[in-house]
Amino acid sequence: MEKRSFSDGSRSGGSKLIGGSRSFGRSGPTEESSSTESSGFTGKSGPIEVDFLLKNAGSLVTIKDEDDDDAKGLGLITDGSVAAHEGVIVAVGTTAEIEKAFKDGVFVLRNDATVFDASGCLVTPGLVDAHTHLIFAGWRAEEFALRLKGASYLDILARGGGILSTVRATRRASEDELFLLGMDRLDQMLLCGTTTVEVKSGYGLSTEDEIKSLRVAARLGREHPADVIPTFLGAHAIPEEYAGNVEGYIEVLVSEMIPRVAEERLAKFVDVFCEEGVFSVDQSRRILSSAKDYGFGLKIHADELSPLGGAVLAAELDAVSADHLVMVDERGIRYMAEKKVSAVLLPGTSFFLAMDRYAPARRIIEEGVPLALATDFNPGTCTIQSLPLVMGIACLRMGLSPEEVIKACTLGAARALGMEEEIGSLEAKKAADMVVFDVPSFHHLPYRFGANLVKGVIKRGKIVVKDGCLTYARSQPGTRSDM
Ligand SMILES: [Zn+2]
Repeated sequence: MEKRSFSDGSRSGGSKLIGGSRSFGRSGPTEESSSTESSGFTGKSGPIEVDFLLKNAGSLVTIKDEDDDDAKGLGLITDGSVAAHEGVIVAVGTTAEIEKAFKDGVFVLRNDATVFDASGCLVTPGLVDAHTHLIFAGWRAEEFALRLKGASYLDILARGGGILSTVRATRRASEDELFLLGMDRLDQMLLCGTTTVEVKSGYGLSTEDEIKSLRVAARLGREHPADVIPTFLGAHAIPEEYAGNVEGYIEVLVSEMIPRVAEERLAKFVDVFCEEGVFSVDQSRRILSSAKDYGFGLKIHADELSPLGGAVLAAELDAVSADHLVMVDERGIRYMAEKKVSAVLLPGTSFFLAMDRYAPARRIIEEGVPLALATDFNPGTCTIQSLPLVMGIACLRMGLSPEEVIKACTLGAARALGMEEEIGSLEAKKAADMVVFDVPSFHHLPYRFGANLVKGVIKRGKIVVKDGCLTYARSQPGTRSDM
């Protein structure tokens, strides 16, 4: 997995037409050779074959680097086109520029190429959901009703409800059952424009049940058009059988679960719920340090309900992100800025829990912390699956601009997954992941959050949603026995 720094300022910019005779190497000479090799294109050996072409986009949001002189950073192109080959973008520009490149023989359109006419529509990079708890059985609708009557989250936990009831249901569910639930949920996200989804385990809380959840994540990644980025969150809660014995459970996490997840290569990241009454900063450090030794990237549920110091710990351990941050203090923000730890903010959760308090997004941006927004989709504290809905809440409750929320759900979220070189913006050599919204401009995205405005979704150069309906061929449920 590439681990190049986001702030690598040497990325080529300037011309809107990317591709053709230009070299695809974006960075220094050491990286150029491998980049060119992997793309297979140099532009010197005849025309570039295009097998996917999106054209006439009323407004094309390409997203650019922070250091781009376009203050808004959205890299807008009016009447834009995107050409791709085998799922990878080869050129982005105005429709006129791309047409000229075809005419000049720089590109050639393959006979069986897919052409998507996005006239009058807004096109953005595929949305990236950088924080979800998608794999679970057992919704908690009754708990929602209880909460409306005034029961607190801790009241519900004390009554045996809350997260541990989801753990019981998830343990009872088979891999096939969890897989089908996951497919349905990913379908709903894809219909809302999400093409890459981070998925955490954390409702198994035993070695076998956590491995089961991560295997489901792997199978979802293979079978669903959306890319699934798996995170091991065995440290999500203390399981019932370890009540009063947190140290005993940490021992299992460190000596059994993490080595096993590493051995089976089932996760890219390890995450910890660092919170009062769950895992302390010291305990979180122990778990995450062990994960780091195995080569995992790190994430932390940090400073959500109390200012415990999770953000500082994230910086100390070079975590890729610290998530939630509703209660983060100035020190935490400064440390994160210094180490360029991404802040993954989850305003849907504050909204769903009817909290008045939201993460201090403006302070986080002012200090230069890279920002991502995500759904936190889970059965207890946020059932939102739509990133445009999260964008709307972020604008209304955290004071963010439409430009900021769109960046935070694309390139910002890609960065929070260490994938900023592969997805999150529309430029040559990145994945041809795009969303076509039936709106005239990007301002409509957070503004009209109550309806699904997605008209089409393209995943790696293939149309997977058309006219608001799924078009990919889903395998028959239960027919695969590869787990
Ligand atoms: Zn979470």
